[in-house]
Amino acid sequence: MNYYAAPVARLIEEFSKLPGIGRKTAQRLAFHVLNMREADVVNLSESIVDAKKKIKYCSQCGNMTDIDPCNICRNTQRDKRFICVVEDPRDVVAMEKIREFKGIYHVLHGAISPMDGIGPEEIRIKELLIRLQNDEVEEVILATNSTIEGEATAMYISKLVKPSGIKVTRIAHGIPVGGDLEYADEVTLSKALEGRREI
Ligand SMILES: [Zn+2]
Repeated sequence: MNYYAAPVARLIEEFSKLPGIGRKTAQRLAFHVLNMREADVVNLSESIVDAKKKIKYCSQCGNMTDIDPCNICRNTQRDKRFICVVEDPRDVVAMEKIREFKGIYHVLHGAISPMDGIGPEEIRIKELLIRLQNDEVEEVILATNSTIEGEATAMYISKLVKPSGIKVTRIAHGIPVGGDLEYADEVTLSKALEGRREI
């Protein structure tokens, strides 16, 4: 049973597939779009398609980028001796916001989670080890989330990297246990980076 004309029903349906958008919000967004100027609607829809088409993952660090290598990897001012390992491209944004880390990143695209069937092979650990062989890395900073999965991933990587003689550190627990890095405020994240310890 549908109270709306088919195109409106479709729009509501599509909005409600987005994370955090319930049926009511989807309806509100759909009606908002219908009240927008046509040029703005075209702009909105084009920006979605454009972002989806142009954004890829950096072949070096795995971060989201429209150029490869990404701006951070190709920046000669960044200190290639420090690699900060994070779970998600959003964590790179969180780290960049504090403006204190001058090294480069490695994005795992997930964390080890046996419950969800995600083993070490499913995330970009192999790629990290290859980078460590080739690059002049001196320290690997493990900035995975303070969740069970994030901790397990940090321990796993630490065990693999340590025999190579490269220093392995874990960011401090200013980050609340169970907390996602991207939601940490800038002061907390800055302190967590500053207080990292060798593992
Ligand atoms: Zn990159």
